[in-house]
Amino acid sequence: MSLAQFKLLRPRTAEEAIGYLAKHGGKTRILAGGTDLIPSMRQKLFEPEYALDIRHIAELRGIRMQPGNGVEIGALTSLTAIERSGFLRRHYPVLTEAAATVASPLLRNMGTIGGNICLDTRCLWYNQSLTWRKGCGFCIKKDGNLCHVAPGGTKCWAAFSGDTPPALLCLNAEIEIVGSGGARRVALREFYTGDGENYRKLLPGELVTRVFLPAESADYRGVYRKLRVRGSIDYPLAGVAVVMKRANGHVADARIAMTAVNPAPMLVERAGEMLIGKAVDEALAEAAGDAAARTAKPLTTSALTPEYRREMIRVFTKRAVLAAASN
Ligand SMILES: Cc1cc2nc3c(=O)[nH]c(=O)nc-3n(C[C@H](O)[C@H](O)[C@H](O)COP(=O)(O)OP(=O)(O)OC[C@H]3O[C@@H](n4cnc5c(N)ncnc54)[C@H](O)[C@@H]3O)c2cc1C
Ligand code: SF4
Repeated sequence: MSLAQFKLLRPRTAEEAIGYLAKHGGKTRILAGGTDLIPSMRQKLFEPEYALDIRHIAELRGIRMQPGNGVEIGALTSLTAIERSGFLRRHYPVLTEAAATVASPLLRNMGTIGGNICLDTRCLWYNQSLTWRKGCGFCIKKDGNLCHVAPGGTKCWAAFSGDTPPALLCLNAEIEIVGSGGARRVALREFYTGDGENYRKLLPGELVTRVFLPAESADYRGVYRKLRVRGSIDYPLAGVAVVMKRANGHVADARIAMTAVNPAPMLVERAGEMLIGKAVDEALAEAAGDAAARTAKPLTTSALTPEYRREMIRVFTKRAVLAAASN
C-alpha cells in the first residue's frame, strides 16, 4: 500500500508548529513517531495535504521533575524513555509498566507518549485497506453512513486501544494543549469524548505539548495487565491499570482504569472507591473485578469476542488488585 502525496512541514519550535496549524490546520495531520499514523495513511484512512512533522521540536521532549509539583513529560518523549526512566519507575510505576507493554521495542523507540494519548480508535471494519473497506460499503467512521458493529445505530463504537492512558488516568494526569489562542491545561479524563468517530477534544489547530503527573499521585503501587493476541507486539484488546496506597494493612486510596473495551479509556470510579478503607482479600478483589466488567462495553470491533474481553476485564482487575496489595 503506497502513501498518497503530501507536503511535509518541519517546525523547530512549538510556536512555529502552531503557526503552521493556524494556517493549514484542517488539511494537516500531526506526525510524531508516525508508528500509527503512517500505516493509517497507507490504508488511506487519512489523506492529509500536509504532515506536520514535530519530531525536531526539542522543547517537546524529556522528563522533567518539578520539585514539590510532580513531573512534566514532553509529548514527544519516547515510550522507551518512559519505560527506562528510573524516576518514573520508582515513583509512578503503573506508567512505566504500561509503557513497556506497547507494541515492540522498535516501535517504543519511535512511538511517543503524545501519540499514544492521541491514538485513533480501532475497529476490525476500519483498520483495513481502501479496497477492503470499499468492498464492505465503508462505515460511519470513514466515508460511509452505517455501522457494521451496531447496525441501525448512528454512533461509532471503535475502541480506544492505547496502553498508557489508563495508567495516566489512575495518576490523575493532566495534559497541556496549545493552539493559536494560547495554552490550556485539561485533566486527561476530560480529553476523550466516548464517541469512536470524534474520540478526542482537540481542534485542528491544536497540539498536545506536555503531560503532568501530580506529586499527590506519586509513590502508589501500580500494576497494568493487558490482553493481546500476539504477546510480543500487539494492541490491547482489554487492559486494566490499578494504583493503590495502603496504611496499616488497609487500602488508603485506590484507582482503577481500563482501556480497549470502550471508545474511550476510563476510570472505573466505583471499583476504586469500594476498596478504600478495607483489607484486600479474594472476595474484595473479585467484587472490584465485577464492577469493572459491568462498566466495560466491548463490541465486535476486534478478533476476540466481546464476552471474552469483558470476562478478561473481570479477571485482570481481580489479579491486578491482588498484585497491587501484595507487592
Ligand atoms: C504493529 C503495531 C503494534 C502496536 N501496538 C500497540 C500497543 O500494543 N499499544 C499501544 O498503545 N499502541 C500500539 N501501537 C500504536 C503506536 O505504536 C503507539 O500507540 C504509539 O505510542 C503512537 O505514538 P506515535 O508517536 O508513533 O504516534 P503517531 O503515529 O505519530 O500519531 C498517532 C496519532 O496521534 C496524533 N498525534 C501525535 N502526537 C500528537 C501531539 N503531540 N498532539 C496532537 N496530536 C498528536 C497524530 O496526528 C495521530 O493521529 C502499535 C502500532 C503498530 C504498528
Ligand atoms: S464501530 Fe462501526 S462505525 Fe465505528 S469503525 Fe467499526 S464499523 Fe465503523
